[in-house]
Parts: sequence; C-alpha cells; structure tokens
Amino acid sequence: MAVSDHVDLATFMEGVKKRNPGQTEFIQAVHEVAQDIFEFMSDKVEYHEAQILRRIAEPDRVVSFRVCWEDDNHNIRVQRGWRVQNNNAIGPYKGGIRFHPSVTESVLKFLAFEQTFKNSLTGLPMGGGKGGANFNPRGKSDSEVMRFCQSFMSELYRHIGPNTDVPAGDIGVGGREIGYMFGQYKRLTNRWEGVLTGKGQEYGGSQMRPEATGYGAVYFLQNMLKHQGNDVEGQSAVISGSGNVATHAAEKITQLGGKVLTMSDSGGFIHDPDGIDQEKIDWVKHLKNVKRGRISEYADEFKGATYHEGERPWGVECDLALPCATQNELNEDEAKSLVSNGCKGVSEGANMPTTLEGVKVFHDAKILYGPGKAANAGGVAVSGLEMSQNSERISWNQERLGDMLTDLMEGIHEKCVEYGDDGDGYVDYVKGANIAGFKKVADAMLAFGVV
Ligand code: GLU
Repeated sequence: MAVSDHVDLATFMEGVKKRNPGQTEFIQAVHEVAQDIFEFMSDKVEYHEAQILRRIAEPDRVVSFRVCWEDDNHNIRVQRGWRVQNNNAIGPYKGGIRFHPSVTESVLKFLAFEQTFKNSLTGLPMGGGKGGANFNPRGKSDSEVMRFCQSFMSELYRHIGPNTDVPAGDIGVGGREIGYMFGQYKRLTNRWEGVLTGKGQEYGGSQMRPEATGYGAVYFLQNMLKHQGNDVEGQSAVISGSGNVATHAAEKITQLGGKVLTMSDSGGFIHDPDGIDQEKIDWVKHLKNVKRGRISEYADEFKGATYHEGERPWGVECDLALPCATQNELNEDEAKSLVSNGCKGVSEGANMPTTLEGVKVFHDAKILYGPGKAANAGGVAVSGLEMSQNSERISWNQERLGDMLTDLMEGIHEKCVEYGDDGDGYVDYVKGANIAGFKKVADAMLAFGVV
C-alpha cells in the first residue's frame, strides 16, 4: 500500500466534509476524534496505510426507510426511519434508537460513530450502531405509539438480530417503546431472542439497565474526583434533562451526599436551592414516565423552586455539572460561565452535549471533563451484560449487576488515564477515551485485512 496515501488532519477533514455535505453533527463528532487520533497515529504507519480512521468514519451501511402509521383520527402519517450500522469489527452493531423530531441522518451517523468508540471502551464485544425516526412521541396516545413502534419494527426486523445488530433505547424510546418493538419482532420472526436491550424484567431485561447510564455517569465523575483526591460528598450539582439518564444521575449524586440543584427539559429548567432529594426525584420520574408532563410543573409542586422558561441551567453556581439532555446543549459561553462560577468537574450523561468550543474552554481551564463516550458508557455496558444474560438464558441480580457496573466504569476511567495523562498530572479524558476506544477497533480491523 502506498505511503503517499498519508494525509494531514486538515486534508482528512476536508474529505469528510466533502463526502458528508451538510451533516454538521457527524462532521463535528469525527473532527473531535480525528484531532486526537492523528496525533496518536503520527508514528504508526500501519494505521495510515490501512486507512483505518477513514474506514471507521464511513458507516458500514445506512438503512433508510419509510414508516407509515395511522393516528387516532385515522390520518395516515409518514415518517422516516434509519439504522446506521457504523462498525462491527469487535462485535455485533449495538446502540440505541431515538424517536425525536430533530432526528436526521447526520445526527444518527454522529451517534453511531461515537457509539463505536464508547462500546469499545467498555471492553465488551460490541460494535457501534444507532437508529431512530423523526417521530415525536410527545402528545401521542399509547395506541399511536404502539402502532408507530410496530410499523418501525416491520422494516427494522430484517436488518437486526442477536448476532447482527442489537438496538436499545435512547431519547424518546424507553421501556414502553422497547416492549412494543420487541413484541412486533417476536411476532414477525416467531423467535424469542435477545435482539433488543432495555427490555422489561419479565421478558429478559437486565435489572440495572434503567439506572445504568445515569449511575455510570456519576461513577465516572467519582473516579475522576478520586484521582484528584476529591469526592462527590458535600458538592452541589447542576443537571440538565429530566429523563432516564438525568433522574438516575440525580439519584446517585444524592445517594453519595451531593446536592442536586437543577433539572430541565426542552421548555426550560427548574432551580431548587433546597436540593432535589430522593422524594422529589421520584416525583419527577412519575411526572415524566407516567403522567408524561413537563418539568415546569415541578415549580408548582415544590415551593422554593423556580422555573426558567426557555433557559438552560449552566448559569447556576455549582461544583459539578452533568449535561444529561442532548447534543450541543452546552456552548462556549455557558462553559465559560460554569468555569467562572467555580465548577470543578463535568461528566456527560448525554452524547456530545458540549460543543467543540465549549470543550476547549474546559480543557484550557484544566477542570475535570468526562466526555459522553466514556462517562455515559455505563448504559450500553449494562446492555452488553443483558446480551450475555439472554445468550446464557440466566438472570443476574441487582447487586451483582451493580458491582459489575461499578467495575466497568472504573475500568473505563483507567483506560482514559492510561492514554490521556499529559504527564504533569492533568488528564485529557477526551484524548484518553478516543485513543483507547480507537485502538481496539483499529487493531481488529488490521487483523481482517482489506474488507
Ligand atoms: N442509547 C444509549 C447510548 O447512547 C444506550 C445504547 C445501548 O444500550 O445499546 O449509549
């Protein structure tokens, strides 16, 4: 192979932009990884020659399909569904399904790309994928959601399988949606198999899966703080989001003696200076999962709390910040405001919630910053354990799974330190996660030759 194929970072990114016009989120995610990987590869000619990064940044395939369904008023509705199968070098494609009006091919390609590195970091045999549809579950009846999920699965089922591709939940896809999709898969194939994770306890779900992403993000933060001789106890935390990840992150911060000050949704955020304790967290869980209400209702329920419409919580003074809502929800100015207010650590429960400029602010200030692909890997890690349990037809208890999650997050933290320690005590967790995640996938790809 020709050594002249070596290109520099700028030329590589030019190519990515040219091949993926208008896909800003995907280009952003590749750029963030490529910066670190080019530095790492500078003396590794074999990766350049085999064009490994170029191949990882080109999904194995993108399946796009029409999803027709009938609403309660008998209108025929048409949505677009996708499954992006990014890379299966180290295991079956694995990653969630997102139902949200903002879903585009670019968003799913960025998520599948990130997932490839995240899944590698867990140490479990899982490749990277992601799927979803531009369907808005908000305001839809249960039967509308069921009909949509069934229609979505009527196409998706032919592309997935326990050894091929194992989807799970993400924004807009929780236990209810997984149940409807699993039921439809089973009906179409006449097979009960571990084709989805995040299933209910009654039908093969893992006991820790709902908690895993949020708890994991706090364990990662705890590991970062411990590495500096610090702890969560007594620290205040600002959290965005109010879904599965945010509520469980809040729960773990509270259990560890921290004080959670905020939660949010796309309408705005609530600030509760008294702290959002377990009772209030349970109330939020009920509001979101059962009543399917809005976070603004929190301020009516709990006196002392205020609702800030149309705003994000990053201006609230805090020691720790956990963005647990969605991509690009924390920009440069907001990062500056967190730093100047004394924030010491950021752990991302969401995928790519901080913009590239925001990340630079955290790095320049040398505060602890755990990127999503490391910090929120606990969710997919427990999905990996659910896959193992389904294959073995066994069920592990909550205590065992809890211990495994703690160990997995400690292992991810160690890998980040191994590749991200800059030598003078500061750990660049982005660099550590990118290199550790990349290396395993890249070495597997080298073993396969040109495929
Ligand atoms: N959607 C989650 C993530 O971003 C979980 C994926 C999974 O469990 O497969 O990692």
